[in-house]
Amino acid sequence: MSTPTVVLSGVHSGPNPSPGLGLARSLRSAWPRLRLEAVDYSPRSTGLSASEFDRVHVRPGWHTADLDALCAGLVSIVESAGAVFLPGLDLEAALLADRQPGHPALLLPPSAAFDAVVKPGETAASLLGLAVPEYRFAEGVEDGADFAVRHGWRVWVKGSRYEAVATNGRAELAAAIAGLRATWGGETLLQRHVDGAEESVVFAALDGELLGACAMRKTMVTAEGKTWAGSVDLLDPPSRARLVDLVRVTRWTGGGEVEIVRETDTGIPYLLEVNPRFPAWIHGATLAGVNLPARLVAAATGIPRQEREKAHSTGFVRVVEEIPAGPHAIGVVPTGQHGLSCDGELPGHRCADSPVPAPGGKHPSGMPVLSRRLALPRPRPRPVDLDHRRAADIADALLVDPYESPARVYFGGVLDRGLDRLAGVCRDVEDATGVPTRFAYSAKTNPDPRVLGAVLRRGALVEVISQAEARRCAEAGFPGDRVVLGGPAKWWRFDGGPVKFGAVFCDSVGDLRRTLALVAEGGVYADVLGLRLAPPGVPSRFGVDVTCPRAYRAVADALRGAPVGRLGLQFHHAASQIGLRAWLREFTAAITVAADLLTRADVRARCLDLGGGWPPGLGRAELGAQLVRATRAAVRELGSLDQVLFEPGKYLVEPAMAVFTTVLDVREGRHGRAAVVDASIAELPDWGSHPHPVLWRAPGAPWRRLPPGDESVFGRLCMEHDRPRAGLTLPDGIAEGDHLLFLDAGAYDASMSFRFGV
Ligand SMILES: *Cc1c(COP(=O)(O)O)cnc(C)c1O
Repeated sequence: MSTPTVVLSGVHSGPNPSPGLGLARSLRSAWPRLRLEAVDYSPRSTGLSASEFDRVHVRPGWHTADLDALCAGLVSIVESAGAVFLPGLDLEAALLADRQPGHPALLLPPSAAFDAVVKPGETAASLLGLAVPEYRFAEGVEDGADFAVRHGWRVWVKGSRYEAVATNGRAELAAAIAGLRATWGGETLLQRHVDGAEESVVFAALDGELLGACAMRKTMVTAEGKTWAGSVDLLDPPSRARLVDLVRVTRWTGGGEVEIVRETDTGIPYLLEVNPRFPAWIHGATLAGVNLPARLVAAATGIPRQEREKAHSTGFVRVVEEIPAGPHAIGVVPTGQHGLSCDGELPGHRCADSPVPAPGGKHPSGMPVLSRRLALPRPRPRPVDLDHRRAADIADALLVDPYESPARVYFGGVLDRGLDRLAGVCRDVEDATGVPTRFAYSAKTNPDPRVLGAVLRRGALVEVISQAEARRCAEAGFPGDRVVLGGPAKWWRFDGGPVKFGAVFCDSVGDLRRTLALVAEGGVYADVLGLRLAPPGVPSRFGVDVTCPRAYRAVADALRGAPVGRLGLQFHHAASQIGLRAWLREFTAAITVAADLLTRADVRARCLDLGGGWPPGLGRAELGAQLVRATRAAVRELGSLDQVLFEPGKYLVEPAMAVFTTVLDVREGRHGRAAVVDASIAELPDWGSHPHPVLWRAPGAPWRRLPPGDESVFGRLCMEHDRPRAGLTLPDGIAEGDHLLFLDAGAYDASMSFRFGV
């Protein structure tokens, strides 16, 4: 035999292609008369129609077949053709490594190599001298949210086998965890996003010996971040030496790819993942003169190549090409209609094991089904006991039993401890910076009189955004000099005064001019008058972006010679959204330009107001440290200050209220169970952006916390979207008449459902 036969699997060619077609092209350029056979698991795999293949095998989908029989069938295809096999699908390769270990015709890594590269890939990273981005495994949004907040919500949620979804907030995180678990089964991994350029290293090895490698820098990517064009280079000697180690230690056979991102700020290379097969862009390396698939097949079969490696270019681009459909592809029905669906399942099978359909045409090789079949069965999580303090807070709040339901429950103890913590933060900032520091509670976050009363008794200030809120605070007992007025609608229905405020912050240039006029007319008196600065680098509808030259000049003109006693600068953008690091970066950028502006206008800032949006999970030390950093940066730019304010809202009140509900019904659905409760989006309007932790209590039993899972709680309203919580495991014994308590409902859930005047 003068040329080998090669069987390739994974030949789909779509926006996120499998490598089969690229492998075929590379092998053909080494052996023009090579016989090539393609294997895939549904007729929807588009590469099956490619003219490169002499024969195609459409194998049964993963949902139908016995996995051992499928592996044996594949091996018999390879053996009867006297061929070698190159896998293009990670999971199929992992399965074959497990079920057919050491088969000489299967050019894939041994099982131990799969273990070494399993996400997040720490073993492989240490061999390769790469860092691993911070990560955490998460079953549900509760275990993942504080990790994500710490990284400004810029995290990736990765499926157990494939796929990574970028998230940017709590609701997206919850949906990504649920969606990836439903698609791939098993655990989901959260990983910090690393800003930087992506690179790949591709290699081939036989029995632990490296046959060749090269590096690729992505020069164009698709919306999903997949390579569309790249430039190919030699691997530098130190990286090559490390790769030799990885290949030797794992006794690697077959192709592989190491995906790396080099962080822009630090230059540190991080490992994203190691793929146990050639990448889809493999033919790009061949075009650059490094034909790794041919080197592998030649080394494995001993058959010399007919054509030499030749560099056509140092880079490659992808193109889209229409080709005639093969006979198997005729009659393939569009996804989502009749016949085979996109991930290779019959629609009728879907509700049994696939609650979430995969997006159109994304997985024609059926990898999600295989992934779910290979996932270890997970024990059903049980409700978790509460710590003593939580149990005591709830017992104090729910004195009357049976309670009125649904009802908002106020945890006075939680609020008091929060106020203690805030007083501690003020002392810490004062001690560290020497600047007197106080906080102004944001009344709009929860205007409950009990909250306002508790804040008043501590001697703290309130922050309001309308005249109505200001009146409400006055009625609650706040003197005018303990009220901070801000926001874009502060003069709505203003009666002309005269009124007095501790501080007034203007939200736009127009607002500044108008407020200065009101002060000049004597209608408004403010100890501190100032401007809210917009974050220059993140979109915000609030404040003035002084980095914009026109706004800069307008503010400087308005302030020059204005009747301002003490000038203040306010910066507020939710650190709970963008993360503490980005917050400090934005703050510093804004304050630096503002300092320059004030110098030109010949005025000095006296008061700094550091807004709200602090994540409720932050400890005293963390919040204090952040405020200290900001104050020091401000003093450096503005000179000495005589007051620092900050404006906690949800930081204080989110954990201080819950919504008590009664279970009306428990129903079985296609996708698991759901409990219907007597509360709804009327009591929990913020559920969409804030999945609440939920406690459960059967009659006479203690409260327990519901663990993550794939079940839901529905509300009482006849609205499809009245679903206050998904992603939970309901307890086995849950029944009509039991109670559920939605925790952390004291912030915007409270204010959005607040009835003023009642
Ligand atoms: C809303 C608001 C706050 C409080 O925000 P939270 O997200 O509740 O912490 C603080 N300051 C200003 C200016 C606000 O508009």
